[in-house]
Amino acid sequence: MLQTKKEKLEYYLNAFYSLGEKLNSQTPHTISLNYNKHKGHIIFACLIHGNETGTLPAILKCIKKLMNKEIHFGGKVSFLLGNIEAAKKGVRYLESDLNRCFGNNYVGKETQERKRALEIMPILKTADVFIDFHQTIMPSLKPFYIFEMNRESYFWARATGGATTLVTRKKGAQFSSAGMCSDEYVRSFQKVGLTLELGEQGFSHEAESLAFEVMKRALKYMDQIYLNNFSIEKLCKKNNDFEFLSITYREPFESPKKRLNEGFCNFHKISKNMVVGSDQLQNPLESPKEGYILFPKYPLRNQDGEAELPLPGEIYVLATPTTEHPLNWQQI
Ligand SMILES: [Zn+2]
Repeated sequence: MLQTKKEKLEYYLNAFYSLGEKLNSQTPHTISLNYNKHKGHIIFACLIHGNETGTLPAILKCIKKLMNKEIHFGGKVSFLLGNIEAAKKGVRYLESDLNRCFGNNYVGKETQERKRALEIMPILKTADVFIDFHQTIMPSLKPFYIFEMNRESYFWARATGGATTLVTRKKGAQFSSAGMCSDEYVRSFQKVGLTLELGEQGFSHEAESLAFEVMKRALKYMDQIYLNNFSIEKLCKKNNDFEFLSITYREPFESPKKRLNEGFCNFHKISKNMVVGSDQLQNPLESPKEGYILFPKYPLRNQDGEAELPLPGEIYVLATPTTEHPLNWQQI
């Protein structure tokens, strides 16, 4: 029995590397399988944030089933593990957030994560479809996709399932001013890039089974598109459309004294003027509008109740339903 998180992680990483040794992949911490029946290349990633381990077992399962022919695929598929060093330490990142380190216009420090991004970028450049599995810091009432609106990526997300909610934004509104995310980087080449958030960080059966189903379906659709000229736009109609949300409010985390009330998880519904915490002067912190809370932050605090530094940019954000179908947004 694998008791601790650390033992589990070690077990899955060892399994990954022992399979990888035989396959001699060019990108470190990556396994590629090429069946050469068509040119399509799909990449699945996990551990871009080190402590989001929930989908690693699904990655292993998918590789094994491909290798023993329980899953058939005709193109090239790569499985990429993002931030191994952070994963081993059980943290999100070591020096900087890997998911803000992509792109050629990066202006941040030359951190370990930036070095890893530079290792990963060449293979991401060859992806036709890229699915990045993540998890949230706090529990979530449901899984969700989150990425900038883009026709093809939206069709792929809807086709592969895994979530019925898409948190999206208009093109050009970069997710973070710090640097590019992995999926943004892939979309910058007019390819498909998706981020799927599968519950609270850590190993879980739900994250594992959802990620596995998404990968299985995505591989099937790659074959149907690249071998049989199917259209992803048509394939996606098998599933109901998403509930579309956009982040319309960000509560700044400007003071270490500011805090959220305990117990919020992703998608808790918040009403206007609801007291959600206390501000830097310990006055009630009210929600300015109705919406669903996303990414609530509960950092460690010292004896004086001050949050440990560096503070995240926002203590929470609010997502609200989009007023129109995002396909109607201009320039997508
Ligand atoms: Zn993440």
